[in-house]
Amino acid sequence: LAVSGDFTRTSGFRDATTLRAGGAVRIHGISKSFGSLKVLDGIDLNLPAGSVTAILGPSGSGKSTLLRAINHLERVDGGFISVDGDLVGYEQKGDVLYELKEKDILKRRADIGMVFQSFNLFPHLTVLENLIEAPIQVRGVSREEAIQLAQELLARVGLSDKINAYPRQLSGGQQQRVAIARALALRPKVLLFDEPTSALDPELVGEVLDVIKELARTGTTLVIVTHEIGFAREVADTVVFMDGGHILEAGSPARIFNGAEHPRTREFLAKVL
Ligand code: ADP
Ligand code: MG
Repeated sequence: LAVSGDFTRTSGFRDATTLRAGGAVRIHGISKSFGSLKVLDGIDLNLPAGSVTAILGPSGSGKSTLLRAINHLERVDGGFISVDGDLVGYEQKGDVLYELKEKDILKRRADIGMVFQSFNLFPHLTVLENLIEAPIQVRGVSREEAIQLAQELLARVGLSDKINAYPRQLSGGQQQRVAIARALALRPKVLLFDEPTSALDPELVGEVLDVIKELARTGTTLVIVTHEIGFAREVADTVVFMDGGHILEAGSPARIFNGAEHPRTREFLAKVL
């Protein structure tokens, strides 16, 4: 096997090729520093297709950086991630691993939906226009097809009547449901949520969590950074606790919430429960 481009992490390359088989998201030994601050330090995680993973941890523990790495918004310093068999940031041709060019990274990124705390809808576009923009531009689907999918998705998140509204005319909860529909409009293989309810008034949290629960039931692979413990307990297959760029422990909700082994996990849960 040979390596092309400025790819220098040859020691992990064999792992990279074995990563390509199997689960929807596989993370192997990734690390990331900002200057001298090590934000991710040897993260391993295997998320089967259709699984729901909740990531918990104190502020600054590396949760957002991990999501951004899966989406290639952040380039890792070491290790590998694969999504549905594709190595994030690389393409394998024969025996050679090539670093992807920016335009190919953008194409790949469309396979991974991301929903942020702050909704991030285009303020000058209607709900419909927000939903059809990327499918037309990135996927090259026809306008008619994009509109039909947008209508289906708005029905799914309970907002058919808001199709011609502008984001500022919607509540935070409604905006976040539109943001989820917009992510789904690209038919992603995986959907990442970074604290999707943290910016919402308490009475609007439930309607957004209900939409995510529905996605979980229909077998979409979900990764959700959240402080909503009740939600994680009910919906997640696996709960992951991060601290200081490490995964301190991971397991079923019952195991983590009733029998966390690590003192840091117990301390964190005592604060948020
Ligand atoms: P979390 O989402 O768990 O709160 P983050 O992944 O956002 O944590 O951040 C982890 C650490 O990395 C924090 O100390 C944060 O300040 C730092 N960090 C994140 N992004 C950057 C960046 N682009 N440049 C410098 N430091 C960053
Ligand atoms: Mg964060």
